[in-house]
Amino acid sequence: MSFCCNDYLNLSQHPKVKRAAIEAIERNGAGSGASRLVTGNHPLHRALERRLAALKNSEDALIFGSGYLANIGLIPALLGPGDAVFIDELAHACMFSGARLSRAEIFVFKHNRVDHAAELAAAHRGRFGRAILATEGVFSMDGDLAPLPELAELCRSFDLWLMTDDAHGIGVVGGGRGSNFAHAKAVDIPIQMGTLSKAVGSYGAYVCGSAALIDLLKSRGRSLVYSTALPPANLAASLAALDIIESDPELVARPVSKAQLFTDRLGLPPARSSIVPILVGSPEAALSRSAELEAQGFLVTAIRPPTVPEGSARLRVTFSAGHPDDQILRLADAIRACS
Ligand SMILES: *Cc1c(COP(=O)(O)O)cnc(C)c1O
Repeated sequence: MSFCCNDYLNLSQHPKVKRAAIEAIERNGAGSGASRLVTGNHPLHRALERRLAALKNSEDALIFGSGYLANIGLIPALLGPGDAVFIDELAHACMFSGARLSRAEIFVFKHNRVDHAAELAAAHRGRFGRAILATEGVFSMDGDLAPLPELAELCRSFDLWLMTDDAHGIGVVGGGRGSNFAHAKAVDIPIQMGTLSKAVGSYGAYVCGSAALIDLLKSRGRSLVYSTALPPANLAASLAALDIIESDPELVARPVSKAQLFTDRLGLPPARSSIVPILVGSPEAALSRSAELEAQGFLVTAIRPPTVPEGSARLRVTFSAGHPDDQILRLADAIRACS
C-alpha cells in the first residue's frame, strides 16, 4: 500500500472526476492547441478561475500549466532588479527558481521564524522597491503550517506582499479552502498560488488575487503567455473535483484525521496536515528504512538532500482519505520497529 502519494482525497480515481475528463475529451478533444493568448483559451478556463476565486475569497484567479510554471511566471512578473524577496528556507524549489529568475535580491529566513523574517526586513527592506514575502501554506516535506496571521501582520508593517504556495493545503486544511482558512481567523493573502495536481487530483495550478494582479499576470507571466494552455480534460476534472471538495466536508477532513491516527500511535505531536515526516538523518538510513517497509508491503519514499537540508533525510509519510485504519496502525508499528 502506498503512503507517498499526494492524491490526498483519491480524487484522481473518483468516478465523477474521471467521467468529467472523458466527456471533456469527447466534446473538445485531447489538447488545447495553443497558448491561451493565441487560440488555446476555453470557457472551462474561466469557469475554473471563477470557482477558485470564490473558494479562496479573492477577486479573481488565473490558471497556469503547472505549479512550477506558476511560480516561475508569477514572481518575475511582479519583481525585478532593485526589488526583494524574503523567503522561508524550506519553500519549494520552484519558488526559489521564480525568485532567482526575477533578479530581485533574495533574503532567506529560518523556517517559520517570524522573528528572523522581521529582522531581515528591518535591516534590508528600506533599500528596495517592491518586495514579496514568500512561503508555503502547508510545507510539502514537513507537513507543518506557516504562521500566516503573524506573517500577514509582518507584511503590513514592512510593506511586503505576502505570497503563499498552497499546493498541500487546498482540499485538505481549512475545510478544503486551504491554509488561509486554517487559522483562527481567515487570513488576507494578496497572492495565493496553489496546484490542482495534489488533493484536487488533476493537473495544473492557480494564482488567486486582486483583479489588477491577475490582469498583470495575463500579459507579464511569461510561463502563461508562452506555454500551451492546459487541455480541457484537466480543467473539467478540476471542476468536478472542486464540486466534491465543496460538498463533502467529511471526505475533506479525512486525510488529516488519518494522519493524526498515525501520529497518536507513534506518540508524535498531532499532525496538522496530511504529511508526516519521520526524520532519519543520513540518506543511507532513510533508503534502508524505506526498503524495509517496502518488504512489508508499505511504499514510503525516502526524501534526501537536496530536496531537504543536509542531515535531515527522512521518510515522508502522506495520508489520503482512503487509507484503512488498520493499515495505518500497522505502518506505525512497522516504523517503530525499524527505528
Ligand atoms: C508539487 C509542488 C509544486 C509544483 O507543482 P506541479 O504542478 O507539480 O508543477 C509547487 N510547490 C509545491 C509546494 C509543491 O508541493
